[in-house]
Amino acid sequence: MTDQTQKFACPLCGSGSYEKIKVFDNGVIVGKCTECNLFYTPLRDSKPEALFNENNYEIMRFLYLPVLNNQVRHFRYKIFRKYLSIIKKYSNGKSLLDVGCAHGFFTKMAQDNGFVVSGIEPSLNMHRFAVTELGLDVKFGIFDNVDLNSAKFDVITFTDSFEYFPEALPTLVKIEKDHLSDSGIVFIKVPNGNYFNFRHSLKAKLKIGSGDAEAFSPSKRVAHYTAETLKKIIEKSGLELLTVKHIAPIDSPVWTKYTGLWLEFESPFCLAWKQKLVRRIVHFVGQFEYFFTRKNHFSQSVYVVAKRKAK
Ligand SMILES: [Zn+2]
Repeated sequence: MTDQTQKFACPLCGSGSYEKIKVFDNGVIVGKCTECNLFYTPLRDSKPEALFNENNYEIMRFLYLPVLNNQVRHFRYKIFRKYLSIIKKYSNGKSLLDVGCAHGFFTKMAQDNGFVVSGIEPSLNMHRFAVTELGLDVKFGIFDNVDLNSAKFDVITFTDSFEYFPEALPTLVKIEKDHLSDSGIVFIKVPNGNYFNFRHSLKAKLKIGSGDAEAFSPSKRVAHYTAETLKKIIEKSGLELLTVKHIAPIDSPVWTKYTGLWLEFESPFCLAWKQKLVRRIVHFVGQFEYFFTRKNHFSQSVYVVAKRKAK
């Protein structure tokens, strides 16, 4: 265990009682709250927002050059388009705040689709990338420390960032109270905790899967939400739930296997077709399971859309 790991209560219900699910080599514990079923890390790193602090700017820029030059598409291009189509279905508004926007590629796509965008990013180099390379209006810091004044937004998004928030519930309460326009919505997309738990069980019991595909990683995550616990946190925050669903898999690039480099652009169909096919079949099985049991252990990601309640 590192000296940065600390003991925390459940971020959804405040209980300190949990069933131990997994212990990482660095001492971080993943537990399941016995009160509300949230998977979270009662023992974890004290700075979850520091996930990308080690990234080197010049290397990052070099690896993304083909995307910046429009020679290839970012590997999340199709899933980003899916996020936008979901957002457009539930909102007519145009101002969008992307919380934890990373490099800013989704934020930029939203801008190119007519949204007036701004972002917040706690990693210094990713913030610099979003501002310098993509020309975005992105504030540096974590949500709690960034001065938004009394700005209100039609859309507030968290794509693969909400699970790093130690104070997720108070953050949503603040958003509902201070930062959503009258018809404003929140869109949150996270990895599916039930999928991680299923994979962890396979590894523990049957020794299937290992290495860089380790379940529940990276260990800096604060919580691993499911459709059930996303729904609970939305209801508890005072927001009104519009939908909670599992989303098509993200086609992670296969370049590392062939080049040794983490190149984040789309893989050609001839190299990635098996992976794409398997992921879609597994996602379909998960949808089927959810239809009958309201649990999904197969889909990799889940999202929720919620709106401000009419006052
Ligand atoms: Zn709990």
